[in-house]
Amino acid sequence: MAETFGAWAGLGATRSPVLQPGCGGPTGIAPILQVHPTRRCNLACAHCYTTSGPHEVGQLPLALLCAAVDDAAALGYGQLAVSGGEPLLYDALPALLQHARHRGLLTSLTSNGLLLSPRRWATVAPHLDRLAISVDGREASHDALRGQPGALARTLRLLEQPRRTGTPFGFIFTLTQHNVDELEDVVAMAAEQGAQSVQVHPLTLHGRARQALPGARPDGMELLAAIVEAQRLAQALQARRGVRVQVDALSQAQILAYRERLVPAWPVAGLGALAPVLVLQADGQVLPLTHELPPSLWLGSVHEAPLRALAARWLHSSASRRLVQALERTWTELSAGAQPAAYWYDEVAARAQAEPVPLTWPQRPAMGRSGPVAAGAQA
Ligand code: SF4
Repeated sequence: MAETFGAWAGLGATRSPVLQPGCGGPTGIAPILQVHPTRRCNLACAHCYTTSGPHEVGQLPLALLCAAVDDAAALGYGQLAVSGGEPLLYDALPALLQHARHRGLLTSLTSNGLLLSPRRWATVAPHLDRLAISVDGREASHDALRGQPGALARTLRLLEQPRRTGTPFGFIFTLTQHNVDELEDVVAMAAEQGAQSVQVHPLTLHGRARQALPGARPDGMELLAAIVEAQRLAQALQARRGVRVQVDALSQAQILAYRERLVPAWPVAGLGALAPVLVLQADGQVLPLTHELPPSLWLGSVHEAPLRALAARWLHSSASRRLVQALERTWTELSAGAQPAAYWYDEVAARAQAEPVPLTWPQRPAMGRSGPVAAGAQA
């Protein structure tokens, strides 16, 4: 699975359904190390931004990942989110999760759910705090996106496994320009299946999705519609059925209100303040926030240096300053513009790609309601 479960949280209506240890990071939760140990997958979904599939064979060594977990824990990362590819195909998954637990990290897994056999689940469940299962709409839509007839029915059948072990689980719904009307059915399905949450994650046009789904990225109006629909469903269903619905998008009002969570002050307190999501790709490259950021802003490869060394070098490089500038620029433009809602990371990535960014030091605007509103002013 390519999504980051719980990567975006803590901003008004977009609270995470997962793992909320109360850390005061920029997104309101403990910084997350998102690991893609392999791009091998039993599916080859149209919307896959890591272009994963059955023919991918490489995987990261367990020792390398455990070292990265150790460094991430020392750097203040409190969660390990394992994604992929399909993480259940990574042989060393139980050992990786167990290691993260021993280092004090909360653990989550994002899966397509098709490989949740009793045998495999028994090795993973003891080390897992939370499971995220991708459900991308009604049966016909889900199966079409996954390229496999019967995929949703099988996934739902196999949810018996986390129910049996009492492992908390939620759904991730990929929002496109065309499917917000399916959200209600997905939430109802979540309630029927015993899921605790539905995370609505906007489609990222990266990897296979760029070729397979051009024009399907939700625009600002669609994101706002999803936010409004999530609030309606929360009122209609949440109290009765206990399913939380969150959208990984921000309305313009939220962007105005939460500036200090979106744009860290410089100098940053640490890597987690600037990169509350740190992505470790299957090729060993480490990047902040999202796959969409240009390689010039990446930290480097764990094949070449330990994560702690990459972090120290990056924090003192022009790349980290340019990322802060991209964050500043994104906030300034979105807070002053007409876009009703935005997926923050995509917006940051778009501005980061728009080189050259003048390397002047970002200045924090004066606090006040007449200009850019400081975080906390409306919180
Ligand atoms: S299940 Fe689909 S979206 Fe997830 S990693 Fe596999 S191919 Fe990609």
